[in-house]
Amino acid sequence: MKRKGILIVVSGFSGAGKGTLMKELLKTYDNYALSVSMTTRTPRTGEVDGREYFFSSRENFEKKIAEDGLIEYAEYCGNYYGTPRQYVEQQLAAGKDVILEIEIQGALKVKEKFPDTLLLFVTPPSAEELKRRLVGRGTETMEVIEKRMSRAIEESEGIESYDYLVINDDLQVCTQEIHHIVQSVKYEPSRNVEFINQVRTELKEMSKGEK
Ligand code: 5GP
Repeated sequence: MKRKGILIVVSGFSGAGKGTLMKELLKTYDNYALSVSMTTRTPRTGEVDGREYFFSSRENFEKKIAEDGLIEYAEYCGNYYGTPRQYVEQQLAAGKDVILEIEIQGALKVKEKFPDTLLLFVTPPSAEELKRRLVGRGTETMEVIEKRMSRAIEESEGIESYDYLVINDDLQVCTQEIHHIVQSVKYEPSRNVEFINQVRTELKEMSKGEK
């Protein structure tokens, strides 16, 4: 039986290592599709338009909102970020498990619209480690790092809204943990109603035939 793909939201403090984790997950397993968001922030060195993000002007972003072309969007540290609708719908229909790597406001909007969404929150093992990673990345100014650290305080208040918390200490271990969670969730009876009904019908038909 071909299982339907599920929608997965991965959030976590800036610097939690979500990007690296997602790359590893996609490299290791073939059931995932990663949604590429649209943003008005400027590209970091090494980021490619259409790969990390679709980089956009505010005007173009607002046009996309007006056309209902985004599943959700939010403002984060002064920039717009949003999830283009078309890719997500296509990939789910094709049976892929689609990952949205988005912040908490967007995560909650997605859960409201699509209650079956699996919400995962990724944290580094400690606040100290978070700061070390943010500074070590060397892509942001101290001012931006401070902004992101204070944003992490706000986001930490929302962790209980998520279905699972994953601690990113070791990349390989964390990747496997995420994959195991996704696989288990896919076996929940409520996500397999079609299959259950089919088995029931077959059982009934079989018992009739035997009478
Ligand atoms: P960054 O600027 O570090 O790439 O991303 C900043 C934050 O925006 C991260 O927490 C990231 O998960 C979030 N983000 C990225 N894309 C989206 C999106 O499409 N929608 C929302 N709501 N947040 C996003």
